[in-house]
Amino acid sequence: MTGKKLYRLSRSFIGDEEKSAVQDVLNSDYFGMGEQVQRFETELAAYLGRPAACVVNGTSALQIALQAADIGPGDEVLVQSLTYVASFQAIAASGALPVACDVSRDSLTINVDSMAANLTPRTKAVMPVHYSGGVGALSEIYDFARENNLRVIEDAAHAFGTSYQGQLIGSFGDITCFSFDGIKNITSGEGGCITSSDEKVMERIRNIRLLGVLNDTDNRFHNKRSWDFDVIELGWRYHMSDIMAAIGREQLKKRSNLANKRRQLARCYDVLFSTSESINIIAHDYDAVVPHVYTVRINGLQDRDELRRRLLAKGVQTGTHYKPNHLLSLFLDSKRGSLEVTESVWPELITLPLHPALDEEDISIIASILLEELDQ
Ligand SMILES: *Cc1c(COP(=O)(O)O)cnc(C)c1O
Repeated sequence: MTGKKLYRLSRSFIGDEEKSAVQDVLNSDYFGMGEQVQRFETELAAYLGRPAACVVNGTSALQIALQAADIGPGDEVLVQSLTYVASFQAIAASGALPVACDVSRDSLTINVDSMAANLTPRTKAVMPVHYSGGVGALSEIYDFARENNLRVIEDAAHAFGTSYQGQLIGSFGDITCFSFDGIKNITSGEGGCITSSDEKVMERIRNIRLLGVLNDTDNRFHNKRSWDFDVIELGWRYHMSDIMAAIGREQLKKRSNLANKRRQLARCYDVLFSTSESINIIAHDYDAVVPHVYTVRINGLQDRDELRRRLLAKGVQTGTHYKPNHLLSLFLDSKRGSLEVTESVWPELITLPLHPALDEEDISIIASILLEELDQ
């Protein structure tokens, strides 16, 4: 492929502002969890309208959100099988059992009937995954959770900036977790955050992320630490560093531009595929949704690997979001009942390049390469 343009599936998109913010932190000779993290948390809280706690990545956010909600060994958590393995590993790390649920065909988000079918007396929580940035039937999921006394830990790794029924994801609901890894809607290099109106949960999270050391967050924000302290529960070294927060703060300022670029490109794909007979798009309302990935389902696709190889040969890198977790050796037992939609759609899913460094012309070239390969 030498000499030919490669359309990357995803990539980080940072500018001089992030670079100089990192330089400032490096010059300050304090890299730990300090003033930058405090400011990032304040700015996130202002944006989301409720407290936010920053951690080292989105996976740890999910893990300690579960712990802080008292979910652990002996408990079951309902989660769609069609998600990044991070969701399943975070549940497993909390000590609870992930129970694989099916998705709805149109949104690829957790199906409420499947949640009901997998409910047991041990079910303590549901983890809806906001696949590609859309949230599916989120209000029905909350209704179901309320009726069955379940906590809701939203895996909103794809959905920073998305709103639902006029409200920003993370601004309402039980507990919401975001990822700021390099390719997410905004990035802090690696990183993540948890937001909730449950002050008890937030307080525990602030301690758990600092090895369980009680009330150390404020000290850290003033470049101090506790020497005489107590620990009352298991904790992890999951705090965010000032280097990461400095990147995240600049990205947060750019969130609208970054979001609008993603929306523009996704809308462009939608139009280009609108007359295709075999390509099914996920129909999002991009006034509300910020797309993290652009995934399509290709009717009757027989050999996805072969198609992906041919696309790559023409310079188009693709992905498959995701191999269902119940097919992974560690999580074979997570399947209890039918996962019919998941099993039938996933071999037909293919994710096309989407990131803010692309433009509309790139999208039309990528779309025509795909259509050509499908012989349309
Ligand atoms: C990225 C991602 C995570 C985990 O976030 P990290 O920051 O990479 O740990 C969790 N769930 C989903 C669906 C993701 O895409």
